[in-house]
Amino acid sequence: MQATDATNMKEVTQQAWNKKPMIISGPCSAETEAQVIETAQRLANTGKVDVLRAGIWKPRTKPGMFEGIGAKGLPWLQQAKKLTGLPTTVEIATGKQVEDALTFDVDILWIGARTTVNPFSVQEVADALRGVDIPVLIKNPINPDLELWSGAVERVARAGVKQIGLIHRGFSSYGNTEYRNAPMWHLAIEMKRRNPELKIINDPSHICGRRDILMDVAQKAIDLDFDGLMIESHIDPDNAWSDAKQQVTPERLGEMISSIIWRSEDTASQEYHAALEKLRQQINHLDDELMQILSQRMKIAEKIGEYKKNNNITILQTNRWNEILERAFVKGEKQGLSKEFITRYFDAVHMESINHQNKIMNA
Ligand code: PEP
Ligand code: MN
Repeated sequence: MQATDATNMKEVTQQAWNKKPMIISGPCSAETEAQVIETAQRLANTGKVDVLRAGIWKPRTKPGMFEGIGAKGLPWLQQAKKLTGLPTTVEIATGKQVEDALTFDVDILWIGARTTVNPFSVQEVADALRGVDIPVLIKNPINPDLELWSGAVERVARAGVKQIGLIHRGFSSYGNTEYRNAPMWHLAIEMKRRNPELKIINDPSHICGRRDILMDVAQKAIDLDFDGLMIESHIDPDNAWSDAKQQVTPERLGEMISSIIWRSEDTASQEYHAALEKLRQQINHLDDELMQILSQRMKIAEKIGEYKKNNNITILQTNRWNEILERAFVKGEKQGLSKEFITRYFDAVHMESINHQNKIMNA
């Protein structure tokens, strides 16, 4: 058993917070005292986990689903911490929940995706955090809106919280996809670009919604230089009271963390830097050429715009747009470009063309 007095736990929490990668694991929900403690002990035995998570209050989509054990589970986490030395983290969504979590010495708080979307709730949580020295992680909102995510960060920062981190857990979308929540990596990358001082960790569990693809997402996050992972684990995943399909046993979690290929952002190797510099110059050169070509393409679109204007023809002709896309899919595939990229790229090019033509038409 390890010392878990308050000062020592602050230090242990700081070490976990500053460690790269920071690994957070534990059940989606705290269910029983025995389940929390056994999960914590088995996680601690893997030696791969820095922070123990457990949902105490669960915001569920439909009433009647398990909505969390409530404050009665907080002493279980305290006990798990006492037995393992692992700092703890829970999701909080109201001022009262912040208060309760602090009363029971939770070490790190997180704001869930369904809370980040709601400025009233975020503000209430931020107000409860005023004057409190505790690290706070903020999940992305369920909808792909970086301003909402940034707004939540700003509210918590304005309340005086010094240590803020981000959790990328994917975004909901309509219809079935491979993922429970689409990762939309570009949004996480953009958030990281805007806030280089904030750590960002990835939550493969809520992105995937299923165990079999957790590793791919976790590895991708590490390849993208994320600062850590939060992955749900359960002593009996199939019988978990929430998110059963995506949880793994503590031992499997340990294996997963061991089999990730950890990469660093930089190296002292001169050969590496020289080679990279050369290749980056080539990329810059090609990017310059691409922009010149795009500009030429827009000039041609403008000429077409003139003809359309003179003959009173609409800018958009769906047939022609389909033809462009079909051609691009066929050619792109031969060049090793994905259909997804071709679609996005041509959408952007086509919109820019339309804007250029619009200017001509209405000049
Ligand atoms: C969770 O972490 O268990 C959770 C509810 O996540 P999210 O807020 O990402 O849905
Ligand atoms: Mn969950």
